[in-house]
Formats: sequence, structure tokens, C-alpha cells
Amino acid sequence: MPSSEPAPPAREPAPPAREADPRAAAPAVPSYDVVVIGAGLSGMYQLHAARTLGLTVRVFEAGSGVGGTWYWNRYPGARFDSESWTYGYSFSEEVLREWQWSEHFSAQPETLRYCNFVADKLDLRRDIEFDARIRSATYDEAARAWEIETIDGRRARGRFLITAIGPLSAPTMPRIPGVPDFRGEAYHTAGWPHEPVSFAGKRVAVIGTGATGVQAITEIAKTVGHLTVFQRTPNWCAPLHNSPIDADAQRDIQARYPEIFETCRESFGCFIHQHDPRKALEVSPEVRDAFYEQRYREPGFGIWMGNFRDILVDQAANDTITAFMRRKIRERVRAPKTAEALTPTNHGFGTRRVPLESGYYEVFNQDNVELVDLRATPIERITPTGIRTSDRERAFDMIVYATGFDAITGAFDRIDIRGAGGVRLRDKWAGGPRTYLGIQIAGFPNMFTLVGPHNAASFCNIPRCIEQNVDWVTGLLRHLQSENLTCVEPTPAAEAAWTQHVHETAQRFLLTKVDSWMMGINSNVAGKDTRTFLLYAGGAPAYRKRCDEVAAKGYEGFVLQ
Ligand SMILES: Cc1cc2nc3c(=O)[nH]c(=O)nc-3n(C[C@H](O)[C@H](O)[C@H](O)COP(=O)(O)OP(=O)(O)OC[C@H]3O[C@@H](n4cnc5c(N)ncnc54)[C@H](O)[C@@H]3O)c2cc1C
Repeated sequence: MPSSEPAPPAREPAPPAREADPRAAAPAVPSYDVVVIGAGLSGMYQLHAARTLGLTVRVFEAGSGVGGTWYWNRYPGARFDSESWTYGYSFSEEVLREWQWSEHFSAQPETLRYCNFVADKLDLRRDIEFDARIRSATYDEAARAWEIETIDGRRARGRFLITAIGPLSAPTMPRIPGVPDFRGEAYHTAGWPHEPVSFAGKRVAVIGTGATGVQAITEIAKTVGHLTVFQRTPNWCAPLHNSPIDADAQRDIQARYPEIFETCRESFGCFIHQHDPRKALEVSPEVRDAFYEQRYREPGFGIWMGNFRDILVDQAANDTITAFMRRKIRERVRAPKTAEALTPTNHGFGTRRVPLESGYYEVFNQDNVELVDLRATPIERITPTGIRTSDRERAFDMIVYATGFDAITGAFDRIDIRGAGGVRLRDKWAGGPRTYLGIQIAGFPNMFTLVGPHNAASFCNIPRCIEQNVDWVTGLLRHLQSENLTCVEPTPAAEAAWTQHVHETAQRFLLTKVDSWMMGINSNVAGKDTRTFLLYAGGAPAYRKRCDEVAAKGYEGFVLQ
């Protein structure tokens, strides 16, 4: 059963009880050139890349295996929104040649197999310490090195500390009284058991209707006895249109990999979808609707990333796609009252993360599925036998918490990170993150943040941007190595300018006018109630150009010593 926040993933190992023997000499702390935290796609590639420089590297990973997101999120229905063949690593021809995705949008088990395949291929595991959750990271100014400590007391030092701790890796539980009281089965989607979970004949509650909730609800509804969905904020969901990759498509993908990655590289978020060059109101209503229909029938994020170029920045343009999506919900959900409850009223299409679905709306046409609108009847508490809302209590055999993550900064907040002068990162970022290029932080020398806040990678078809992040950081390490330097840190001025640029760039987007995790809002986390943009909205190509220019100018904005 999950406890209250922070939600321990179901498989997180309990720290072994170790009693210190006061007579024993303190063991030497192992020392490496590079310490990496996290063995998801970022940490795995960073390990491989740093090895190519001949550096000693140690990766510390909280889970018992590689894969990060795909290790933890084993809930039913978990799968890509990115086309599988655009998501995998591009850096290794061998990996590309030997791995074949079976579906256009791979499900979690296959993606986890892929991560393990890469780990085997590159012989990564020998440098990864599993079941090692880092609780603190402290900068030693005199030694110009970082020291990390795990929750069970293991320590290590590294000249460089690279966080690869994930944008969506710190699960949150709802702030509802009574969570530990429930006596039935209870799971957070990001801590799903490794053993099969059956829903047959059971009364199941799902709390949460974000991207994860939408996937899980659709899958659970296929076999459940009775399902009750507790929804606070409906989202605009669009069809995924997944399908198997047949032999012809497989050959085509293999042949076109360079072209596919080039297309991703040049698109705003590194997806395969390109914006339509037209504006929504430039065309007649008939042409516009036909275009929306076409996008609605196509696979993936095309309707979000490949739409008219102004739907995410111009309110009048956004209203047209929002009206289209509203009509779609009404067409697909039989009961008008339920359709109404499933229709967002507080944001336009695309201004929050768009869940992709495979029959989600039709779930609510099933006789054994009930939707509870928490805006009308909020949850008062979890009871030993079920969930009490303001109007009644319902009994359940299982509660599924699809309540998401403390996004982008959450995994940082859960580590006690102290830079020069003992300054805590949590304190420095109390008013919102401040970084240079989303890669480094003034006052935290030799620490790099892969897929960190204010980095294009957090608003991206993520592995495409992970490769850029890792290649750039590795280039900087190579530069330090060749110049015999041991320390790098951004200037406060460079950090301030980048942070200002991040906020200015975001301003034109409608998403900054809406509460969402991208805006740093999370009602499940104390203190996350003030809007601050956590991503970078200038687009991946502009971000990459900027990073390359900085490097070409001898790492402008950084002090290297
Ligand atoms: C359900 C789901 C579906 C997604 N689908 C897509 C998609 O289709 N396309 C897309 O681009 N992105 C998707 N994402 C985003 C996904 O997180 C990224 O694609 C990518 O996997 C991030 O890789 P990462 O290595 O940066 O982070 P992660 O995969 O999150 O890995 C971070 C690792 O760091 C470890 N860690 C964190 N803190 C500590 C600590 N204190 N000590 C030790 N270890 C720690 C974690 O255990 C984890 O293994 C999805 C995310 C989720 C949750």
C-alpha cells in the first residue's frame, strides 16, 4: 500500500539495517572521474559517452535495473506517445541495425527489453550500482569534487556529478487523508508491481486522468469487474492509432533512419511531426475542419505538434481546434452528462500535455464504468474499505493512484544537493529554477543536469534531446581534459540571462496562462502553487544552436579553471 507523499515506488528496496562498528576504520570512499545519478536513457548514454574519454564512471540507480521510466512504469497500458522508431538511440549503427520495434508506439515491456538490450550491447552494468538511491550530494570546494551518499550509507566521490534523474521520476500521491488506512490492494502507477495484477471481478478505483491515467483506465476497463474513475481535471485526449510494424515498414524504417533522425533534429520538439506552415484562421472553416479531421485520424502527436503553426500561441486559432476536440468527445461519449464532465473547461487544446488514447472515451459507454467528477463532489478521505466523496462512500477492492509526478524539479528536491558554501539547491530554486542552458547552475561547480529544468530536453521527443545533452556535456569534459582543467561553473550573469531568456521565450505560448506541471503547479506537493515555467520553449534546433555557439566561443558564460 502506498504511503503519503513522497510515494515510495512499490519495488523500492528498504534500506538494509547496517549498524556502524565504532572500532572499524572508516572505509575509503571510492573515487571516480564522473559520478552519474540515474540509469534511464540519459544515464546509460552518459556512461557510454564518458567511457569513450577514458574516464572512470560510476552510475548510481535507485531501481534494480536499467531503463528509468520504463523500469518503474509497468502499469497496464503504459506505452510510447513518440513513434518507437524516433525514440530509440541514434548514436549506434549497430543498435539501430540489430533492434526492431514491433509496434509504431511500443508498449512498456518492449521498451524495457530495448533498454536491457542496449545495456548488454554496451556492457553498461559493470559500472552501475543498482538499489542505490542517492540521498545527498555535497560539493567539496577544496578538492573540487562531489561526494554522494545513498540512503543506506554508501558513499562515493566524483570530480564531476551528472544528474540523470529524470523529468518524470518523482511520483506523487494525492494529499487526501486516510491513504494508509485502505485495506485493499493499492498501487501508484509509477511503482507498479513486477508481478501480474488482475482486475477481473474486482471493484477498482482509478484516481487521476492525466496521460498515465488515460492509458491505465483504457486497459483496466477491458477486464475489470467494475471501474470508477475519479477525475479532477479532464484533459483533451487525442487518438494514438497504434499498429504493428509489418515487414515492409520494418525495411523502410531501417533504410530511412538517417532521414528520420534528420527530420526530428530540425523539428521544434524533435518529433517526426512538422508544423503546418499555415495559420488556422487563414483558411476557410471547411478546409480547417477537414485538416483537423485528417490529423485526428493520423497516428501520434501530429494533431498537437503538426497542426497549424499558431494553435498554441494565438487564442482565436486555439479556440478552433478546441471546438473541434469538444465535438469529438460529444460524438464518442453516449451520455451527454458524462461527455460534458469529460470536456475540459479551464484550458484550450494543447496547452497542457495531450494524452494519447486508444478507446478512452468509449470506456465511459461501458455499463460497468462510472465517472466521478471531483469538481462537483471532491474526495474527503480514503477509508479502510474505499473512497468517501462529499456526497457518498464507495467500496473498492483496489485503488490505482495515477496521480503523476513532481515534474522536472521533483527528483532534485528529493536529494539534499549542496554546492559551494553549503548552499542548498532546493533553497536556490525556491522561487523557480535558475540555470545556464539548463545544464549547469552557478554555485554548483562541476555538476551537470541532463534533461534538467530550462533545458530543451524536457520539452522534446526526449531521447533526441538526451543525445544532444550528453554529447554536449561530453564535449565539455573532453575540453577540460585536453586543457588540463578541473573545474567549470557558469557565471551568475550567464545564468541570469539564460533564465530571463527562458521566461521571455515562453511568454508567447498559451500554456503559460494555464496551471499545469509544465508551469510548476502541482497541488499534491506543498509549495508548488506558483506558476514558473520549467521547460524551454525556444525549440530544440534553437537550443542546440545556442549550445554549439557557446562551445565554439570557448564555453562562453562559463568559468573554466
Ligand atoms: C509513462 C511515461 C511515458 C512516457 N512516454 C514518453 C514518450 O512517449 N516520449 C518521450 O519523449 N518521453 C516520454 N516520457 C518521458 C520519459 O521520462 C523520457 O522519455 C525518458 O525516459 C527520460 O529518461 P531519463 O533517463 O532522463 O529519466 P528517467 O527514465 O526518469 O530515469 C531517471 C532514473 O534516475 C533514477 N533516480 C532518480 N532519483 C534518483 C536518486 N536520488 N538516486 C538514484 N537514482 C535516482 C530513477 O530511479 C530513474 O531510473 C514518458 C514518461 C512516462 C512517465
